[in-house]
Amino acid sequence: IHPAAAPELPPGRGRPARPIPSAPPRRAATALAAPLQMDSLIVLNVSGIQFQTWLDTLERYPDTLLGSSERDFFYHPETQQYFFDRDPDIFRHILNFYRTGKLHYPRQECISAYDEELAFFGIIPEIIGDCCYEEYKDRRRENAERLQDDADQDNVPETDSVFRRLTNLKWQFFPVLNFEQHSTIYEPENLLIH
Ligand SMILES: [Zn+2]
Repeated sequence: IHPAAAPELPPGRGRPARPIPSAPPRRAATALAAPLQMDSLIVLNVSGIQFQTWLDTLERYPDTLLGSSERDFFYHPETQQYFFDRDPDIFRHILNFYRTGKLHYPRQECISAYDEELAFFGIIPEIIGDCCYEEYKDRRRENAERLQDDADQDNVPETDSVFRRLTNLKWQFFPVLNFEQHSTIYEPENLLIH
């Protein structure tokens, strides 16, 4: 089992005074559900999309944002929800990690966006499962190389980049110049006048 350690979470406000009910009767909700049981089921609102889970599911990973009292910063008493202004598509995979203990990399997601969400929730990418880790590493390396290429291009000498900009300008205006040449030189009226 990998530890989901987030080395640098900001200090929290401390745990809520309310005691956490021990061993709630899971997934046995009825109309007569006791308040204690209701308390253990929490709503995470991620940019308007609501996710429900059990408190003890999140607390399996106490070193992460959701598993620690850090999440209280995001609690809104009026709605009794935790609100996160984050990407709900990626969050689905993050929440699945708490449920299953396995973190997957959704191929369709941008690697940078995915990394950002993981960092926000205090989850280290090293715990990504074997099924996805190679893909994740490859995508990350490709992205790093692409960023490096861009940085190299930005570092060309100033005269080069000015020249390139002028060249681009020439191509932007070329159609216009070409049109003017046609209208002044090749029109029969102009030919007659000259
Ligand atoms: Zn996977």
